[in-house]
Amino acid sequence: MNESEHFDVAVIGTGPAGQRAAIQAAKAGKRVIAIDRQRFVGGEAVQRGTIPSKTLREAVVHLTGVGQRAFYGRSYRVLSHITMADLTQRTAHVVQAEVEVVRDAFLRNDVEIAIGSAHFIDPHRLAINGEVSRRELSADRIILAVGSKPVRPSGVPFDDRQIADSDDILALGDIPKSLTVVGAGVVGCEYASVFAALGVPVTLIDGRTQLLEFVDSEISEALKFRMREDGITLRLGHNVASVELDSRGRVVAVLETGARVVSDTMMYAIGRQGATAALNREAADLAPDKRGRLAVNEHYQTECGAHLRGGRRHLRSGARSHRGGARQAGRPPRGRAGISPHFRAVADRHLHAAGDLASGED
Ligand SMILES: Cc1cc2nc3c(=O)[nH]c(=O)nc-3n(C[C@H](O)[C@H](O)[C@H](O)COP(=O)(O)OP(=O)(O)OC[C@H]3O[C@@H](n4cnc5c(N)ncnc54)[C@H](O)[C@@H]3O)c2cc1C
Repeated sequence: MNESEHFDVAVIGTGPAGQRAAIQAAKAGKRVIAIDRQRFVGGEAVQRGTIPSKTLREAVVHLTGVGQRAFYGRSYRVLSHITMADLTQRTAHVVQAEVEVVRDAFLRNDVEIAIGSAHFIDPHRLAINGEVSRRELSADRIILAVGSKPVRPSGVPFDDRQIADSDDILALGDIPKSLTVVGAGVVGCEYASVFAALGVPVTLIDGRTQLLEFVDSEISEALKFRMREDGITLRLGHNVASVELDSRGRVVAVLETGARVVSDTMMYAIGRQGATAALNREAADLAPDKRGRLAVNEHYQTECGAHLRGGRRHLRSGARSHRGGARQAGRPPRGRAGISPHFRAVADRHLHAAGDLASGED
């Protein structure tokens, strides 16, 4: 392979975890390349997660005037007819600005950016399939910062529009006439509240009886109260048995009790799984669990890396540590989206990046 295509460190994924890993490696004097299959850098955090969801929320709070109604009355609105375009316009603006911030940080630190989907050819070589070209490179260390994607249960006829997951919801053309949200984790609760604030009748379904089990029960109860005040119908302690379209083209969630919840649009937010499927994992001897997660040791190295000689390693960002490495590293417990990815650079030349949580929880 051409020497110019050899790097000290290759980072797959340019979300918060990949950014920190790549930039820290560059600051340590390494030749670094950061790869992402999305057209713009920033990862899901910038494209579909943290940034757009929070911007959508801000746009809704502003345009509905919901924060001012105590002064002006329940019918107060800044804009009387809000469209999805009104909301996404603001989101697109903020996302674009964030992409520039991330890109600039890479460039200032001499991190090369490659756009395309990366997969292993062997444990130290990657192929990157771009829109128009394919490129191969090798690296001493490969950092997997590939993040996660929403879990889609089999049997649910997703069409990315009427039956969508939390990644699709920002791309809806119109504000739904009514919405069923399946999954009352942080993502489900967040979008349920946002659409309810727009006046959309929302039903929130979850098999668990408590909202956000990881917070104090008083907070959870307060949230329930507030959601009901906002017109959200809570169906807690109920599991969805099947999903179908009725003769009028509406989405029907059939609960295990036989009850039917009918709405215009449905969004699934039942957790996320590691986005490792496209990596051609076998070529690097990586065996994921059933949620796409890769086991790592206390240095966040995959088994493949740990067994290699000569100092070449794979470092997994956002992986499961099977020796309790998370606790040793003083990180907050995994398993909850909404906890910011963070980065630790520790001894010698090992780079540790703790990124997306890829757990059963939102
Ligand atoms: C709706 C929503 C709201 C959220 N709100 C918050 C919040 O308020 N606060 C908070 O802290 N967190 C929030 N999160 C979680 C946060 O977005 C994630 O924790 C964060 O994005 C994880 O960062 P990451 O770098 O691990 O991965 P990501 O941001 O997912 O980035 C991974 C990148 O890797 C790329 N990639 C994957 N596979 C390949 C491949 N084979 N080749 C090339 N590129 C690849 C992906 O395209 C992606 O761009 C939210 C998430 C969602 C879904």
